[in-house]
Amino acid sequence: MKQVIAAVCIQCGEKHEAGDNTYTCKKCGNVLDIVYDYGYIKSQLTREKLASRKDYSMWRYKELLPIEEGSAPALLRAGWSPLYKADRLGERLGLRNLYIKDDGQNPTASLKDRASAIAVVRASHGGMSVVACSSTGNAASSLAGNAAAMGLTSFIFVPERAPKGKVAQLMIFGANVISVKGNYEDTFRLSAEAIEKWGWYNRNAAINPYLLEGKKTVSLEIAEQLGFKAPDYVAVSVGDGCTIAGVWKGFKDLYEIGFIDKLPKLISVQASGCCPINRSLETGQPIEMMDENTLADSIAVGVPRNGEKALRAVRESGGITVNVSDEEILGAMRLLGAACGIFGEPAGAAGTAGLKKASEQSLIPKDAVVVSVVTGNGLKDVASAQSASPEPVHIPPDMGLLTEEFKKRNLMKQAEGR
Ligand SMILES: *Cc1c(COP(=O)(O)O)cnc(C)c1O
Ligand SMILES: [Zn+2]
Repeated sequence: MKQVIAAVCIQCGEKHEAGDNTYTCKKCGNVLDIVYDYGYIKSQLTREKLASRKDYSMWRYKELLPIEEGSAPALLRAGWSPLYKADRLGERLGLRNLYIKDDGQNPTASLKDRASAIAVVRASHGGMSVVACSSTGNAASSLAGNAAAMGLTSFIFVPERAPKGKVAQLMIFGANVISVKGNYEDTFRLSAEAIEKWGWYNRNAAINPYLLEGKKTVSLEIAEQLGFKAPDYVAVSVGDGCTIAGVWKGFKDLYEIGFIDKLPKLISVQASGCCPINRSLETGQPIEMMDENTLADSIAVGVPRNGEKALRAVRESGGITVNVSDEEILGAMRLLGAACGIFGEPAGAAGTAGLKKASEQSLIPKDAVVVSVVTGNGLKDVASAQSASPEPVHIPPDMGLLTEEFKKRNLMKQAEGR
């Protein structure tokens, strides 16, 4: 990998050879960061060369990814999700330049596919046939799907409260599923022990530094889709912290190779019932564990493992924090759906909920170019969607009753198209 210099410890700075599947620092045990040779990458890639590529997936950025030469390609198409200009939603939020990046359109319907794609390609290249992770749901279903496509065996650990849609995906993708009686933290610990014992490829983003590199492609795309411009703000929902750190890394990479000339501010959105990273950002105190009290299961992470990377990303960007209630998240699900036709799961819509709140509190200038990343599709968690919405009109098949019902519900104007 000529493009990668080393895997460097974020705490003590110890350098590890890139590519040997070292996950954590051999000296102090902390997490690692993949460091690139930007000079070399600049000599290999230009904006024009990139723009002319026909590969509309995350692999169009291969010069910026930690993939060994000669690796077998991933077989599912992850990345290049649409970036929509969302004027109607922007009007509702008081923002004139709002964009929605719909990452629910990835192969297994969440942003996690970007990380899992890296995992299966690296595992395959390293000759490993078994991959494993613990996950609140999406990392699991994305690993299971991507592993199935590559012909790898997967062992997946989920907490018992993982939504049915996500568990159903696992079963259909043929994963070995272990549903752990306990919370995410318990699930993580058990998976770590099993991975250690059997020597599986570890797709825990909490530890494996290569996964963040996949997640960063969301920002590479946002910048390219905006014509190689960075937005002013990017709103991201935050659980473990890997995603928002990846979002930051993507923009920084592009800045380092001169593809963009400024960096966005990050809006770190967490659920009020589980916001250890935001709390640390707000108080300046180290991250302390919190209970996992939110229906947004994908961001219910009481003990974030990539917390330090997330803190650095938000601080370096000069970003802001917003905490949202479950009510506000459900409201944002309705808004996204009704104003944009985009169906996000609770954690997927949380970024938009945070954006709404930040805009109402005048924390964002009205003319700012703002991107909200919808990180996962709503069909994964139908129960939450139903609790976000009113009941349909229930009636027998009768026009008279239908008209009466319309009158009762003030729907006549809409029915007549006025
Ligand atoms: C995982 C996930 C997040 C948060 O990512 P972290 O790396 O855990 O911070 C947000 N939304 C969805 C839908 C996710 O699956
Ligand atoms: Zn170290």
